[in-house]
Amino acid sequence: MTDNRTWVNPLRDVQDKRLPRIAGPSGMVIFGVTGDLARRKLLPAIYDLANRGLLPAGFTLIGYGRRSWSKREFEDYVYEAVSGGARTKMREHVWERLAEGMHFVEGNFDDEGFDRLSAMLAEMDVTRGTGGNWAYYLSVPPDYFSDVCHQLERSGMAEAEGDSWRRVIIEKPFGHDQETARELNQLVNAVFPEESVFRIDHYLGKETVQNILALRFANQLFDPLWSAHYVDHVQITMAEDIGLGGRAGYYDGIGAARDVMQNHLIQLLALVAMEEPVSFSPTELQAEKVKVLRATRPSYPLSTTTARGQYTAGWQGSHHVKGLREEEGFDPESTTETFAACTLEINSRRWAGVPFYLRTGKRLGRRVTEIALVFKEAPHQPFGEGQTRALGQNAVVIRIQPDEGVLMRFGSKVPGSTMEVRDVNMDFSYSEAFTEASPEAYERLILDALLDESSLFPTNEEVELSWAILDPILEYWADHGRPEDYAAGTWGPISADRMLERDGRTWRRP
Ligand code: NAP
Repeated sequence: MTDNRTWVNPLRDVQDKRLPRIAGPSGMVIFGVTGDLARRKLLPAIYDLANRGLLPAGFTLIGYGRRSWSKREFEDYVYEAVSGGARTKMREHVWERLAEGMHFVEGNFDDEGFDRLSAMLAEMDVTRGTGGNWAYYLSVPPDYFSDVCHQLERSGMAEAEGDSWRRVIIEKPFGHDQETARELNQLVNAVFPEESVFRIDHYLGKETVQNILALRFANQLFDPLWSAHYVDHVQITMAEDIGLGGRAGYYDGIGAARDVMQNHLIQLLALVAMEEPVSFSPTELQAEKVKVLRATRPSYPLSTTTARGQYTAGWQGSHHVKGLREEEGFDPESTTETFAACTLEINSRRWAGVPFYLRTGKRLGRRVTEIALVFKEAPHQPFGEGQTRALGQNAVVIRIQPDEGVLMRFGSKVPGSTMEVRDVNMDFSYSEAFTEASPEAYERLILDALLDESSLFPTNEEVELSWAILDPILEYWADHGRPEDYAAGTWGPISADRMLERDGRTWRRP
């Protein structure tokens, strides 16, 4: 049960600083606490929440893993992770209070370990006042999601008593295709009811992603333009400049489309394209996303509306970097793509005829995530061709990272005695407009899960629908040979450029 005295729906209700969203009595168990994600993101986020006073006094953090760590050794490990990764200042009294509630339970995903964990939770409920309220964070390889859920059920830890709650937080990737996602959903939902399942898509925890809702639905300026009447096409880009590095083993067999497009990019598409929800309650918001996902399909033929690639050696700025096939742990024969692009269409009155171009890749020109709505040309141009040579199409660009903000591109007269029109940018930057630093996505999502606020977590239906959009593309690629090469530091394979050129368009160079 949620503590109603402090519960505020962050998307719906006024953020009253006198009424911060503080989690009620609770604790969290992290499975996979020794892993990369926990060390870099989860543990620092938990400290930052504690530092901001948003965790309850008796908050208890239990790490579960295959080390024979004492409480002290676990504390030292967490301290190192937090001091290296926290966003907020290290404060001794905050750390000490948090560390008091830290424990480590040694175990594999077998019966004995979970029985020990169950005993630990019962003890904490008495000594720390966690009230039987536990969130289980599954930060383990996806192959183990089912083992952990099964063990939580067997040991009686999945079921809450009385007013208390048990929730499970699950990391991506959620399935490998629609069928495996459905199987996994069934398995998880057999142990935890859907309202207790929080699937992480950390993009939804980003302030700029939530700003899409503010931009669209709090303003009068944009909505009239937000449709096929004025929008020519939409480009959604998530480009990384890094390569696979140490993650080659994880990535091989997954690839860019499954790793990024199925979750982050399709969620961005849903937020940009959905209708205004009746309210910002989780149910209403998710209902609108589901509606738009149901109407979304790949454009055909897939031979010309999609592109995929693998990076080869090249230059990233002044650094020469190696190609994918030279990366340690990556099978040189692998057909896993590090670049994926596709064209989607949305069969609705608002978006009929507007292509949504999605692309993502590693070792691209620069690290950037953005959504660009590119507008049609004016129906009549009173200026001569020579006067508008430097005028492109108008655009609204929502920059998700880095340099979070919104940019508008439009034509303006060049100063001087002649009439010459060229593109200019009007740029809103978050960091310049607001003095407060944005919380990290994981801070927001962990707090929301503790507060039972599920608006920013994709439902089982959303996950399965995203796979349904992507599956035909993945199947087509599986039957059609190798991805094309592209040099590191460029913007992907030539086929990605051709994909747009065929439609008389070009990718933005962000
Ligand atoms: P990782 O570094 O490989 O860590 C995996 C964790 O699982 C380790 O703590 C490992 O413990 C534990 N584990 C594996 N097998 C186990 C077993 N049989 N019994 C007990 N513990 C076991 O993985 P990660 O990068 O942290 O990723 C964790 C999850 O988050 C994955 O689902 C991944 O897809 C997802 N994710 C990660 C990132 C990221 O940036 N890293 C981003 C998005 C999503 P040992 O230390 O004992 O091996």
